[in-house]
Amino acid sequence: MAMATKCEGPTIGIDLGTTYSCVGVWQHGRVEIIANDQGNRTTPSYVAFTNNGRLIGDAAKNQVSKNPTNTVFDAKRLIGRKFSDASVRSDMKLWPFKVRGVGDKPMIVVNYKNVEKKFAAEEISSMILVKMREIAEAYIGSTVNNAVVTVPAYFNDFQRQATKDAGVIAGMNIIRIINEPTAAAIAYGLDRKGNTVGGKNVLIFDLGGGTFDVSLLKIEEGIFEVKATAGDTHLGGEDFDNRMVNHFVQEFKRKHEKDISKNPKALRRLKTSCERAKRTLSSTAQTTIEIDSLFEDIDFYTTITRAKFEDINMDLFVKCMEPVDKCLRDAKMDKSIVHDVVLVGGSTRIPKIRQLLQDLFNGKELCKSINPDEAVAYGATVQAAILSIEGYNEKVQDLLLLDVTPLTLGCEDYKGHMTIVVPRNTTIPTKKQRSVTTVVTAQSCIQFDVYEGESPIAKQNRLLGTFELSHIRPASKRVPDISICFEIDANGILIVSAEEKSTNNKSKITITNNIKGSLCKEEIEKMVDKAKKYMSDDDDYKKKTEAMVALENYATNKMDTVHNRSNLNQEDKKRIVDAVEKVIEWLDENENHLAECEEYEDKLKKLDNLCSPILNDKNE
Ligand code: AMP
Repeated sequence: MAMATKCEGPTIGIDLGTTYSCVGVWQHGRVEIIANDQGNRTTPSYVAFTNNGRLIGDAAKNQVSKNPTNTVFDAKRLIGRKFSDASVRSDMKLWPFKVRGVGDKPMIVVNYKNVEKKFAAEEISSMILVKMREIAEAYIGSTVNNAVVTVPAYFNDFQRQATKDAGVIAGMNIIRIINEPTAAAIAYGLDRKGNTVGGKNVLIFDLGGGTFDVSLLKIEEGIFEVKATAGDTHLGGEDFDNRMVNHFVQEFKRKHEKDISKNPKALRRLKTSCERAKRTLSSTAQTTIEIDSLFEDIDFYTTITRAKFEDINMDLFVKCMEPVDKCLRDAKMDKSIVHDVVLVGGSTRIPKIRQLLQDLFNGKELCKSINPDEAVAYGATVQAAILSIEGYNEKVQDLLLLDVTPLTLGCEDYKGHMTIVVPRNTTIPTKKQRSVTTVVTAQSCIQFDVYEGESPIAKQNRLLGTFELSHIRPASKRVPDISICFEIDANGILIVSAEEKSTNNKSKITITNNIKGSLCKEEIEKMVDKAKKYMSDDDDYKKKTEAMVALENYATNKMDTVHNRSNLNQEDKKRIVDAVEKVIEWLDENENHLAECEEYEDKLKKLDNLCSPILNDKNE
């Protein structure tokens, strides 16, 4: 069986999501999805920059309403894209944080410790990858260097390369990038279940917090072919939450004649409650919302039924079925020959959505036994096990996982036509060559424009990069024999090279990352250094926070002791209370700006020097 060289050490699987990420490891012959330090099995893909330090994951998301302009999320919507892309321009309008174009690269602008800082989407994603690795390391108890990371099936070469770059910046070895729907199908072992003649057709229905992806896969002898993808990049659980928020804003208006829609804090609190209520309604018929002093000291206590929730969202739920039809149409496949329908993403827990989907497939049972938030990370972890020595196990060894190129790759010829080098759906890794030649006599240079897409007119496809082969030996037209080679590795990353074949002239040009428009080696190295600095800043932040908490705990503890002691004389009591109050006042003043560790330690020592003799002397 053809298999990549196995890597050593533990290898984890990471679902690097738009709103949430999830990590797993293969242990004791099975996949373990790992909970983070808050006990959650998914971690918000959020990074926050504050005056004191950097926060990643739950801690970042929890402070978003306090610090909206410096809390970054949705980096996946930016990764590998140009600032001038239409999707970037429209997404930018929705984000509370700033994005600026540097050249044509979108850079996220935040204020960190009162200084303006710019970050590429790769850097933000790298911070999330580091967090996911730390979660895994805390669980496994050893260092983790290797990971399999998932990306949406429609991600192009730039977006895949940029995701790999994020791995490099995080100091990780991304040994494989796989498509999210492929990972979900692997999680269900759909590639192993029986051998349906002519392959198996699997529809992956992935409805998360903010994005909706439908993919049709054909699985045959371990080869995953993405037949078609459809979806909506801005449809998901958040839209259902917002509908409920609007519903209650109206109710509040009716009951109390007050409009809370202009009060961000009230809206935020209402939204958090609505999200919770929505989750509850997936398993109960009715639930309550109870928010104390929601607005102008008015408590808001109300109920909502599942029927009402469905009613206010029905048009959105129905809208979720349209891409399924489109996907089937694009793949020219009748729904009767879909063998499995797989549910992925937290929002597929909504009973109405399940019912509509099941009805669409004439009552077919849906694959829903794996936690939908975890299915993608689960599949990534299985792939990680296959690729790592430690995970090598009989259960997975007979899995042959291959992927295909989603789009045709080629070069523009002198007439503007697309010369196909790698047809779409070619199994990767692959290496394909074609011969080309000159069109005029004594032509010394050929420019190669590399495109991906299905149009026979090259310019209607997507330009991936341009490079030249120069110093071609002077000759009549059509004489030089030049070979152009497209090489795609297992991650779907492309290297194009050209070589003049005639005996003495061997010039060779490779399309590097730089030419392809993603980050060049120097830029990545700079970002790696920057990432290390931020990590040591985090360490510093952690130490200062610990020193601050130690002082705060000590001070409050002594205050409690003094109040509970009956054998202290008034003078001693006053000395301690005064000193403790002074320390607490100082801590409050410095709340937004941490002091140096030594200052906290020094104050703690002085306070202890004052308190201990008195309290120890008067031990009860
Ligand atoms: P994901 O991006 O796949 O992690 O999905 C997150 C989305 O799923 C969020 O909008 C959640 O509110 C939603 N979600 C999670 N659990 C449930 C549930 N039990 N019922 C409805 N929606 C849910």
